[in-house]
Amino acid sequence: MDLFAENVLDHGFVRLVDFMGGDLAVVQAARVSVGKDITTPDRDRKLVHFLLENRHETPFEHSLFKFHIKCPIFVARQWFRHRISSYNEISGRYTEMKEEFYLPQTLRAQKNKNYVYTALEEKMNEELLRQVENSYQQAFQLYQTLLQQGVAKEHARIVLPLALYTEFYWSVNARSLMNFLMLRSDPHAQWEIQQYAQSLERVFAAQMPWTHEIFCKMKTKV
Ligand SMILES: Cc1cc2nc3c(=O)[nH]c(=O)nc-3n(C[C@H](O)[C@H](O)[C@H](O)COP(=O)(O)OP(=O)(O)OC[C@H]3O[C@@H](n4cnc5c(N)ncnc54)[C@H](O)[C@@H]3O)c2cc1C
Repeated sequence: MDLFAENVLDHGFVRLVDFMGGDLAVVQAARVSVGKDITTPDRDRKLVHFLLENRHETPFEHSLFKFHIKCPIFVARQWFRHRISSYNEISGRYTEMKEEFYLPQTLRAQKNKNYVYTALEEKMNEELLRQVENSYQQAFQLYQTLLQQGVAKEHARIVLPLALYTEFYWSVNARSLMNFLMLRSDPHAQWEIQQYAQSLERVFAAQMPWTHEIFCKMKTKV
């Protein structure tokens, strides 16, 4: 049974399927250096805060989150840049892809400057989204035609857009997860991956409340 599950975007999700460790695992790992173990909640919590504030980050590597993620391919491309973690993804060579595409509610307009967006005018938004949806349908029809004609799945998939949903398992330790959250919940990150980062952060806060508390303080300092 999932430890956490939440829908993200129109067809995606974040599921926490396994977790090992927690705040006390951080304390244990840190105190081994002086031959000691966990003590009182107050002292242990202060130690967690001290470790993160002073960038003694290896004790956080002993807490491990295993997620099942479903997101559009363009989000996964950004996600997979985070190397300090483990991935296994559904294969478009071995399985037939499902007709599931991400359709934004509003297309963002951008003027010159990076990271500055506005909403497209309503009528134009509606019209362009209709065209986007049509292009998804046409691409998927061609994919199916290619398969019906005996083309291998690994070739047929080349016509599918980046908006197609993919799935993967992602195992990540708390140290690397904090790096991900720092970068991907930031307003400079693309809005779509920010939605996933916010969901992951809710998991992180629930599983490691002391670490999350100090992480939030550090985030506001950066
Ligand atoms: C807003 C935004 C815009 C971006 N734009 C682009 C872009 O235009 N083009 C692009 O290519 N990428 C882009 N990226 C991706 C970015 O460059 C990183 O690849 C990504 O954020 C992963 O970060 P990371 O390397 O810290 O994570 P991880 O790969 O998980 O690494 C974690 C940490 O481990 C250490 N580490 C890992 N590998 C090495 C190594 N080989 N050598 C030394 N230390 C290592 C580093 O301390 C690193 O911070 C963007 C990211 C963001 C958030």
